[in-house]
Amino acid sequence: MNKKLLRQCISCRTKSVRDNLIRITKTYTLAGVKEAILNPNKYQLGRSAYICKTKNCINSAVKEKKIVKMLKIPAQLLERITPQLEISLNPHEGVKA
Ligand SMILES: [Zn+2]
Repeated sequence: MNKKLLRQCISCRTKSVRDNLIRITKTYTLAGVKEAILNPNKYQLGRSAYICKTKNCINSAVKEKKIVKMLKIPAQLLERITPQLEISLNPHEGVKA
């Protein structure tokens, strides 16, 4: 049997397969500026943080600055992707007319 690689949620520390988690990867633009990408394709290189697709884990990761500390990124970078984080959690609520 193929052993699946497990990733750990930075909020609740539960281990899960990658498909069940939201991934945030730190990378650099061509100009060398730090950037945080939400759910990049799996070939995207860079330090990554994984979070369960649950409100509790996302809220705790954002509010307690776990993502910022884990990836060593400026808080503004996280603020930029936080709305996307919430949308990826609730696709229906994310669409507001
Ligand atoms: Zn979690």
